[in-house]
Amino acid sequence: GIIVENVSKQFGSFKAVDEVNIQIESGSLVALLGPSGSGKSTLLRLIAGLEMPDTGKIWLTGKDATYQSVQERNIGFVFQHYALFKHLTVRQNIAFGLDIRKASKAKIKGRVEELLELVQLGGLGDRYPSQLSGGQRQRVALARSLAVEPQVLLLDEPFGALDAKVRKDLRAWLRRLHDEVHVTTVFVTHDQEEAMEVSDKIVVMNKGKVEQIGTPAEIYDHPASAFVMSFIGPVN
Ligand code: ATP
Ligand code: MG
Repeated sequence: GIIVENVSKQFGSFKAVDEVNIQIESGSLVALLGPSGSGKSTLLRLIAGLEMPDTGKIWLTGKDATYQSVQERNIGFVFQHYALFKHLTVRQNIAFGLDIRKASKAKIKGRVEELLELVQLGGLGDRYPSQLSGGQRQRVALARSLAVEPQVLLLDEPFGALDAKVRKDLRAWLRRLHDEVHVTTVFVTHDQEEAMEVSDKIVVMNKGKVEQIGTPAEIYDHPASAFVMSFIGPVN
């Protein structure tokens, strides 16, 4: 799993992440939920090693990863606007991480076909990104990040740029995918309904601090603060 131990990160005099403590169980899917500016992306970047904490430690699968490079952490990352390689086909995009790791041709081929099935893009392997919908592109991005079998998958509003209907479909799809793959996943969203539907646990953030951690039901039934109550609200 992942342990975030007393982690703080300041930009100038502004505390973007403020003494955060989180324990994420191995194989679970956890949402970081909070309003814009609450420190979700910064926390995700700290876990990834794209930012260094001012204080505190990050533990990944039992190892102190605080001073490990991004590469050493073996992490898959998908952003809101994930840049696929435009001049490469879907298959070639998915294979990218395996190619640079010099896996054998046969192994790459097998793995890519497996991943195409997993993200339900079986017939689209030879298309280019420009010939895909936004939702299909994000699924290619996910397949690409899963190709190298990361120990942790970090998703920063991966469906944020898509329309409501597609978001809803992908949300359900992500849950099913996670039930198959079981990689420890941290999913950033500012959409409470999305967090409720997808995650095993929700971390509610406000102004760089963790307001509450719990299952969707715990947080909904027993909000720990007025902020959580107002932010979670009734789900329709
Ligand atoms: P959003 O939902 O809008 O993506 P967020 O919860 O992901 O918000 P962060 O991106 O983590 O928020 O930013 C938290 C705060 O830290 C914001 O006030 C932001 O302006 C500030 N911040 C983030 N990165 C930097 C940086 N590199 N330099 C200065 N300030 C930063
Ligand atoms: Mg963000």
